[in-house]
Amino acid sequence: MITLIRKAKVYAPEALGVKDVLVVGDAIAAVADELDAPVGGGLSVREVDAEGKVLVPGFIDGHVHILGGGGEGGFATRTPEVTLTTLTTAGVTTVVGTLGTDGVGRDTMALLAKAKGLRQEGVTAYCYTGAYRIPVPTLTDSVMKDIMAVDEIIGVGEVALSDHRSSQPTFEEFVRLVADARVAGMLSGKAGIVNIHMGDGKSNLSYVRRAVAETELPRTQFLPTHMGRNPELFEDGITYMKEGGYCDFTGAEDPDLWEREYGEVRYSKVVRRIVDEGIDLSHFTFTSDGQGSFPMFDDQGEYLGIGIGKSSCLLEGVKECVFREGIGLDVALRGLTANPADLLKLPKKGRIAPEKDADLVLLDETSLDIDTVWARGKVMVEAGRPVVFGTFEPHAS
Ligand code: ZN
Repeated sequence: MITLIRKAKVYAPEALGVKDVLVVGDAIAAVADELDAPVGGGLSVREVDAEGKVLVPGFIDGHVHILGGGGEGGFATRTPEVTLTTLTTAGVTTVVGTLGTDGVGRDTMALLAKAKGLRQEGVTAYCYTGAYRIPVPTLTDSVMKDIMAVDEIIGVGEVALSDHRSSQPTFEEFVRLVADARVAGMLSGKAGIVNIHMGDGKSNLSYVRRAVAETELPRTQFLPTHMGRNPELFEDGITYMKEGGYCDFTGAEDPDLWEREYGEVRYSKVVRRIVDEGIDLSHFTFTSDGQGSFPMFDDQGEYLGIGIGKSSCLLEGVKECVFREGIGLDVALRGLTANPADLLKLPKKGRIAPEKDADLVLLDETSLDIDTVWARGKVMVEAGRPVVFGTFEPHAS
């Protein structure tokens, strides 16, 4: 299968200007000012006129409860598994699955099976081993074996710190876990990163800072997430990034509500601050916490029920960066493309360049709404509508 995307304004994520992009099979073959369609040999080439449109890398959503999550309000509040089109219609072509508070009612094997299922349905899926509590639940008898033996497992997470739902691990337990993940990652050519759920507790990043100060563990092994959840944690994160650390920020379905009710710092304001402070632009990532549960309230603060996060918040966050804060699309995109690709060591992901996987999203230049999504060269979404569905998804006609 060969596809030639013509005259797209390419953000790789850096702005490349108007280019033609040639896709052969599941990979990008060439990016140039003008490309001729290959002819002969009975090749069929699909040409896509992308004039007036923007082509960006497929999004990496590095923190999704693909198997479902929640359950903190009892068994009836367990959230459902993610569906293929929830991801693809949001532009997500690579997902990293994680367990959460509940590492008992759901386990690593079930998470891995779901990741494998998503791969068979057409997107790229990885997962973390472990859950909130430390020592973490594992697939085999050790974190190190999980990372070394299983292709899909790229690190550990989400382990909880500074939260009433955390297992309140000792510092030594935490450090040993990060050390094991690091060595297993080295031995298997993976990130071996530890994704850390940060709650609303008072200790904020103290364990992470102490680990960096007192051990030889490098900052690249730690990826604290939900770092915008309250102003105090956010400020700690800003300082930590200035010191050379990496932080992940979580999108919201209704950022106005979360800003008003909890003081949560929305992605556009996160990126604004990072730019204004001159922080290294490779040190932040942006994820959805998809399928995670959250309470919903109406404008009067009346409880409406429990909702679930979705990957669609990612593009909304990017749009706010561009339209509300005047931030360049190249910078806004970094948190869900090049930055997670580098930090999670996914070298074929997150960029538009020859030999990268053909994970691509075509956006309307004015609205930045999704037009077409390719996952490894295959069209998953066309004219904003899914054309490939998960096995048990109803096919909209
Ligand atoms: Zn979390």
